[in-house]
Amino acid sequence: MLWPSGLRTSDLLFRTIGINQDKTINMNNRIELIRGDITKLQVDAIVNAANSSLLGGGGVDGAIHRAAGPELVAECRALHGCATGEAKITKGYKLPAKYVIHTVGPVFGRNPSRQEEQLKGCYYNSLKLAVENNCKTIAFPNISTGAYGYPKSEAAMIAVNAAKAFPDNNNSIEKVIFVCFDDENYAIYKKLLNS
Ligand code: ADP
Repeated sequence: MLWPSGLRTSDLLFRTIGINQDKTINMNNRIELIRGDITKLQVDAIVNAANSSLLGGGGVDGAIHRAAGPELVAECRALHGCATGEAKITKGYKLPAKYVIHTVGPVFGRNPSRQEEQLKGCYYNSLKLAVENNCKTIAFPNISTGAYGYPKSEAAMIAVNAAKAFPDNNNSIEKVIFVCFDDENYAIYKKLLNS
């Protein structure tokens, strides 16, 4: 995506989604934090915290399907689901984002010995798909921290570490944006990214 010169991605995003920029955390010029609705973002890919059917659900999943329109579920049907920690990509249809990367977070407590690795996998596999599809800007919701009950601080730490550790040797990803919908997650990420 081409940005007008001198404008940071976040300026454009905030302008696009019409929220006041409280504070943008800019780490290594690559990780950003915003509070808002992920369905409004004009980025190459937004990530969906989907369930394993990939056929839609509540929370951010429901919001993404509503905003994208019925063609999204039609494409998802052909993907035949997705395992926990894995990711699959579709077009964005009516969303401002070009693609939706659907990933399935772990339900907290269902498989305790694997949940951390699975949540890390959601971020890693989504970033990998983004690179493979030439996405320069990608926005993540706080995967598993809603209905799936993952403790927010732990989940945030896993998310940020996974983004920092992602081996993007060619610097093909320009922005990783963490989108917090609720105040609690926003405060946690803000502290984490400032430390
Ligand atoms: P999960 O089942 O993975 O827990 P949820 O959708 O229930 O998924 O919640 C994941 C996170 O998505 C929660 O932190 C919730 O506040 C957030 N969320 C809900 N709607 C939106 C939205 N429109 N944009 C961004 N984040 C959202």
